[in-house]
Amino acid sequence: AKSEGPGNTTFFDVSMHDQVRERIEMEVALRQAIVDEQLWVAYQPLIDVDGGRAIGAEALVRWSHPERGPISPAVFIPIAEDAGLIGMLGDWVRQEALRQLAAWRADGTVDDDFYLSINVSAKQLTVSTFPLVVSAELLRFGVPARCVALEMTESVMVDNSGTSARTVYELRELGVKLLIDDFGTGFSGLGYLRRFPVTGVKIDRSFVVGLGADEEAGEIVRAIVAMSQALRLSVIAEGVETRVQRDAIAAVGVTIGQGWLWGPAVAPAEFAAAWHATGTA
Ligand code: C2E
Ligand code: CA
Ligand code: CA
Ligand code: CA
Repeated sequence: AKSEGPGNTTFFDVSMHDQVRERIEMEVALRQAIVDEQLWVAYQPLIDVDGGRAIGAEALVRWSHPERGPISPAVFIPIAEDAGLIGMLGDWVRQEALRQLAAWRADGTVDDDFYLSINVSAKQLTVSTFPLVVSAELLRFGVPARCVALEMTESVMVDNSGTSARTVYELRELGVKLLIDDFGTGFSGLGYLRRFPVTGVKIDRSFVVGLGADEEAGEIVRAIVAMSQALRLSVIAEGVETRVQRDAIAAVGVTIGQGWLWGPAVAPAEFAAAWHATGTA
């Protein structure tokens, strides 16, 4: 990335310089966003494929920048991770989501089994006090552990320091659900599914996209379902956009779906209006 000029002067080329500046600006802006409350949490329903009811929701962070407009989490989450801000950001998202869930449970928007699924970065799981913090928050907001799922990617399972493994075990002991996000895209093998107390997997959208059209995608999803049944894991299919895809996941035994077919991630009021426990029965 850095190039050595004649006379040993080190300089960045122009595009590199722009990229670095862009990143630094983003980092400063993100710190400000947390302070200025430019962040909010959107909720996307997790659907019981048979009944069409929302049995839970995934909490997805949103950033409405006053000048730039909405910035995608696919852009700013990696920056937050690199900048050491993911702990702070993750704490904020989780607390906001738990506060929202407590309110929905209290006003009857959701039933007693409804759960919120919250994304956790691999970096957050290297912090040994993380389970203690989550445990304190569950008490503080009065939310039962079984009403919370934490989504983590396979990368967590290959941390060989041992801290993440211990953290994952302690989280499971609290009673929260533990889901492997983007399942099938990692390169860690499947051995960890027996070593880690995972409760479910989320089949990555890249496999769901091909359903109905591409035979191989169907075989992969079928294999994931068979394995999950053997290990007693729940299965959620991500990114279901069409009825063809819904029918295909149902045909191989996937019971929970998430995707634009049912609805995108929306603001809390919109979620409550669309998915009220008694409104959609
Ligand atoms: P993810 O965890 O895999 O979340 C699913 C993404 O797919 C979301 O994008 C969601 O809006 C999108 N999606 C849902 N249904 C469909 C569909 O039918 N079709 C298509 N094409 N997309 C669909 P989003 O909200 O932009 O989030 C992107 C990523 O940013 C997430 O991917 C996750 O990795 C990360 N992220 C979002 N919020 C958080 C957070 O609070 N903490 C952490 N650590 N990461 C987060
Ligand atoms: Ca996720
Ligand atoms: Ca995912
Ligand atoms: Ca993803």
